[in-house]
Amino acid sequence: MQEFRYSLLDESYVLISEKRKERSNLFIEKVSDKKNCPFDEGNELMTPSEVYAVRDNDKNDQAGWKIRVVPNLYAAVSRSVLKTCKNQFFKFINGYGYAEIIVETPIHNQRMDQYSLNQFELYFAAIINRLNAIAEDKNIRYIQVFKNNGIDSGASQTHQHTQIIAIPFVPKVITDRFKRLKEYYEKNGRSYFSDLMEQEIALNERIILKTSDFTAICPYASKVPFEIMIIPSYDIASLTLLDSDKLVSLSKILKKLMIALYKKFNNFSFNLTLSEPPKGYRNAGNFFRFYITILPKMTTAGGFEQATAVFINPYLPKESTKILKDILKQI
Ligand SMILES: [Zn+2]
Repeated sequence: MQEFRYSLLDESYVLISEKRKERSNLFIEKVSDKKNCPFDEGNELMTPSEVYAVRDNDKNDQAGWKIRVVPNLYAAVSRSVLKTCKNQFFKFINGYGYAEIIVETPIHNQRMDQYSLNQFELYFAAIINRLNAIAEDKNIRYIQVFKNNGIDSGASQTHQHTQIIAIPFVPKVITDRFKRLKEYYEKNGRSYFSDLMEQEIALNERIILKTSDFTAICPYASKVPFEIMIIPSYDIASLTLLDSDKLVSLSKILKKLMIALYKKFNNFSFNLTLSEPPKGYRNAGNFFRFYITILPKMTTAGGFEQATAVFINPYLPKESTKILKDILKQI
C-alpha cells in the first residue's frame, strides 16, 4: 500500500507507505559494520541497479565508482498507473513517484566535511543529472532532494547518502511559497531574494559568508539553532541551470560550511534540503531562486510545534552566525 492521503483539516497530504516497515534501522543495529553496508564499495549487488554513477570503469554495479545513484530498496513511492480518488472524505493519489539514493562516497566512514572539493562537484552534478532525468516523466510535478544525516535526523544508514523523492503533485507548502514570491515580484518589480539580500548585506549581522555567486546566512526567522540557507547572489530558479564555474563556487561554500559545523559540533545530526521550483518553472528566476537549507538537529519539535508549526528556537540567529564566522576565520 502506497497512497498520498488528503487531510482537509491540514489541507495537505500524508504518504502511507507500508514498505517502509521492512526497513531495518542500521543506525541502531550496526553503526559501523562495513560488511553489511549496502552503500560500500564491493557491496553493489545489495542495492537495485544504479541509474547514474561516475566510475573509473564501465562496469555498472561493480567497484570502481566515485558517486553512485540507485533506486531506494525501501522506496516510499513507486511507478504504477497514476490513480486518484476524489471521495470527499477519503481522497487519495496512489503513491506514484521516484525514490532514489545518491551514495555520496564509496568510503564507509567518510563525513561530508572530509570530502574533497571534487566530491562536492560530483555530488551536485549527480543531483542535476537526476533532477533532469526524473523531470522527463510527465506525471511528476515536484522533486525533493534531501539529506538526513545522523541518528536524530531520520537517517537509517550511517554511510553518507542523499535522497530524492519525486511525486505527482506540488505540496501546498511549496505552492504557497511560490505564489507569495510571485506576488512579491508583481507588486515590487524585484525578487524577494534580491531585496532580502540587500537588507541583510546592509545589516551584516546574519551573513556567514558571501561570494559573488552565493551567500550563506542564518535566516532572521531561523526555526532551529544554526539553521543555514545558501542562496544564489543572482536570479536563478534552479540548480540545474548552474554552469560549471558556479557549481565549483557552490561546492566551495558547502564544503566550508560543513567544516565549520563539524568543527563546532563534532558529530551532529542535520537535515539538508534543496528547494527547487515546481516542475516547469525553471525560468521563474525573476521571482524564485533555488536555495539549500541546513537544519542541525539540536532541538526536538514537540507538541506546540506539531500543533501550530511555530518553532521555538533558543538561539538568536545572529549569535549562530557570529560563532560560525569566528570558526571560519580560523580555517
Ligand atoms: Zn558503508
